[in-house]
Amino acid sequence: MAQSDWVNIFQEKIQELGRRDRWWIEFDNNINSTEPGWENYIRNTFARFCCSQCRHTWASAQVPVLFHMKLNALEGRGTVKVRCCKQECRKCLTPNLEQPQVSEENITVLMDKLMLKIRKKCYKENVGENTTRFFIAGNIDGPHESRHCEGCRLGICSRGGVSS
Ligand SMILES: [Zn+2]
Ligand SMILES: [Zn+2]
Repeated sequence: MAQSDWVNIFQEKIQELGRRDRWWIEFDNNINSTEPGWENYIRNTFARFCCSQCRHTWASAQVPVLFHMKLNALEGRGTVKVRCCKQECRKCLTPNLEQPQVSEENITVLMDKLMLKIRKKCYKENVGENTTRFFIAGNIDGPHESRHCEGCRLGICSRGGVSS
């Protein structure tokens, strides 16, 4: 899915919140687990990868997606930054970090979970957990390999958890 799909699904879900604030989402591959002044949310999802060198493909259910969010209530605008952790091909000697391909249905699940975090952390609503599971299509190839995972290098992979 292209970045525009993330943006479109995000804006649809923001509309459903029924708030007056305007929100933006942007991809930022430089954000780390925490940043002063920003709320954060980390969630592992399922994604597919394709090696840009040998065309090997694989799937993983341990792909951390990191969100930073901030509401400026005075200006009526909110910002979300998102970073999807990459993985490397295990067959290549000098692999590139490859961008995960997240399906539309899993982006939707991610956005539903994100909305709950926005309501909770930015609007201080007393909301529960979103326990919707991700759609897993096809086989996961072997155990998680930390040395090929960007999330593990950032130390956020294990924080992506399986709850909410
Ligand atoms: Zn490869
Ligand atoms: Zn990892």
